[in-house]
Amino acid sequence: MLYTVDGLVLRVQNHGENDRLITILTANGKISALCHGARSLKSKMANLTQPFVYGNFEINKRSGALPWVRGGSTNEVFYGLREGVEKMFLATYVCDVASELSGEGVDCSEILRLALNTLYAIMTDLRPLSQIKAAFELRAAAISGYCPDVLHCEDCGTENSENTYFDVMNGAIVCSACLEKRGAGLGKKYSSVYDDVRERSVLVPLNPASLSAIRFVLYSPQEKIYSFSLSKEEDLRMFARAGEEYLLNHLGHGFDSLDLYYSMI
Ligand SMILES: [Zn+2]
Repeated sequence: MLYTVDGLVLRVQNHGENDRLITILTANGKISALCHGARSLKSKMANLTQPFVYGNFEINKRSGALPWVRGGSTNEVFYGLREGVEKMFLATYVCDVASELSGEGVDCSEILRLALNTLYAIMTDLRPLSQIKAAFELRAAAISGYCPDVLHCEDCGTENSENTYFDVMNGAIVCSACLEKRGAGLGKKYSSVYDDVRERSVLVPLNPASLSAIRFVLYSPQEKIYSFSLSKEEDLRMFARAGEEYLLNHLGHGFDSLDLYYSMI
């Protein structure tokens, strides 16, 4: 069966002498496909089968064999992502997360759109990289079914408090007054360990600006999630930490591409 599909190349692996095995994220799921001869300089498919390429792929599928790419054309190649290793590793992390949150034969339209918008934001320096990264992480977690409830304190219901904590493992927020009460209830003084990992709790301190940013990213239409600014460094730092803690704690592991990104900044 021959068909065409639009998709984003998430991963490229060498295969055999001259072939590539690519993982493509499409709106209808993730596909692994072979590209015969794609590593040859003369191959028309050398450009199509690069990381971060969003293309239209002609795929041949036979029962019992891996699908293979017969041809295709590029829609967007995101060349700018290769300008610096920092951007390239962050883009690789975005693709790794998108790969983990997608599956074969399932609707992946939202995660595909999010990944494409994020690669574009990284390439064009739309916002600071740490802001783009955290917005992606929070929205990716929400798409995969882990949307936290950050509108009200999970204990008293207050909406706005000067000091709030992101209760990462419960997907909720708790105000500082309620956290004090919890500490008192347990007969312990927690004031010095609020922002550290405590048993199975992960509490990330938030100020009003970073909490507003989290709400904006989770509850706005997806195409708007990068259209805000955080003016103070502390706001950005808190927002960035919240995004990463939330996604990685729910996935339960880190990523080599993320370690590489941090080794560059
Ligand atoms: Zn409260």
